[in-house]
Amino acid sequence: VTDLHKDRSFGELKEKQRSYASYIRSSGEQLLRLISEILDLSRIEAGRAAIKLDKIELANTIKDILLIFKDRAANNNIKITIEIEKEIKSIEADEQKIKQVLSNLLSNAIKFSPAGGSIHIRACAPQTDFVEVSVEDTGIGIKSEDIPKLFKPFSHLEPVYTKTTKGTGLGLALAKRLVELHGGKIWIESEYGKGSKFIFTLPVR
Ligand code: ADP
Repeated sequence: VTDLHKDRSFGELKEKQRSYASYIRSSGEQLLRLISEILDLSRIEAGRAAIKLDKIELANTIKDILLIFKDRAANNNIKITIEIEKEIKSIEADEQKIKQVLSNLLSNAIKFSPAGGSIHIRACAPQTDFVEVSVEDTGIGIKSEDIPKLFKPFSHLEPVYTKTTKGTGLGLALAKRLVELHGGKIWIESEYGKGSKFIFTLPVR
């Protein structure tokens, strides 16, 4: 219904109605994300999440994701740059799941960076048998004592942070499990107040 409203199918909405409709819409989207993240996580915990390995071009996967987040970053006055080493060619991975990992990292990077910040995505191949992808931001950073909590489900560190902090607290828990299903690792380097860098590896196979 709110999609119809958004498309003005029932004629023009008054300003106030429009703002209510958009609120309902974003609440709906949030709820949907929560449900799908809970389902994904429980499927993985139950050992029922299968990954479907295909040959993928990581550079294209990253560029696809960037297209999705370009506007959101620009609206928040955040610049995203990417750097992909040319040695990176195809890897065997489940593209949907890798996109989900990248989306979670990127949406956090945007969410926890102030206006005027920047995000750098880098893909490199430190060894021939695996690739490494990092998402680095100039955001609020994470205290070293909080790092161990990060990848646990339902962890929000700072309750009252920034913009509309509408998170489920499941994004990183899910990202970790998805990377591990591929046989990779994920970790973080951060300086509180300066920014964070999330890094994950994936085997080339
Ligand atoms: P959500 O973002 O939905 O709250 P996540 O699992 O993705 O859940 O992240 C958990 C918590 O980790 C966030 O609430 C935030 O406190 C912290 N966090 C995640 N990414 C970043 C980041 N790039 N910079 C600072 N803090 C972060």
